[in-house]
Amino acid sequence: MTIPSTMLKVVVAAPRQVALHEVAVPDPAADEVLIRLAYVGVSGSDLRGYRGTLPTTVYPVVPGLEVSGTVARVGASVANVQVGDRVIVEPVRSCGQCRACKAGRYNCCRRVQVWGIQMDGAMAEFATAQANRVFRIPDSLPLSTAILCEPLSIGMQGGGASAGGARRGCCRPGWRRHWPHRLRRGQEPGSARHSVGAQPRSPGGSAAVGRRRGARRRSCGPRRSRTAVDRPARGPRW
Ligand SMILES: [Zn+2]
Repeated sequence: MTIPSTMLKVVVAAPRQVALHEVAVPDPAADEVLIRLAYVGVSGSDLRGYRGTLPTTVYPVVPGLEVSGTVARVGASVANVQVGDRVIVEPVRSCGQCRACKAGRYNCCRRVQVWGIQMDGAMAEFATAQANRVFRIPDSLPLSTAILCEPLSIGMQGGGASAGGARRGCCRPGWRRHWPHRLRRGQEPGSARHSVGAQPRSPGGSAAVGRRRGARRRSCGPRRSRTAVDRPARGPRW
């Protein structure tokens, strides 16, 4: 695979200020891989970052956290993937040292960074990722479909938690209102409300999974997603 010396990337310098920059293709660190991006989804977080309504966004930032692509280069200590592998990415970077990380809940890391929010994302020709957040996909799965793994995985996590374990979920301050552990104590599986954020993945992923797993009631997100379980075909208004 020929790797050029420069690439283009999308940069949101400030709310509603987008530009295309030509920069050097990054070199992966020892524990990283360089990915040639094939597809990048436009997530709700990307839209909120663009509009300036996501307080956790650190500008300037490259949006994009739903990705698929091909490994173009690997760091010296990377063993789980190799050049040419078709992959998807879990778009978080965690410290590996804090209590949450050591408990295996790196999504709750106190220093967690999410692609496209606190760190550069994937709206570029190439991006580097921690190798332990990169996963090979089957040959039968098109790259254009594989980008849905990220929102679907959130849907499965949210749906599973809401239907079967109401007090499980992310414990980060500020995320509480979006996650199922806020459900009332004592709710039984199948009686839980389905509680997720008001994002496209709500009707498309979380709500559908929650309903399949027994959640009878609805998303508590704002706007139309309140009724996402009952009307999964209708998404929130942006
Ligand atoms: Zn950590």
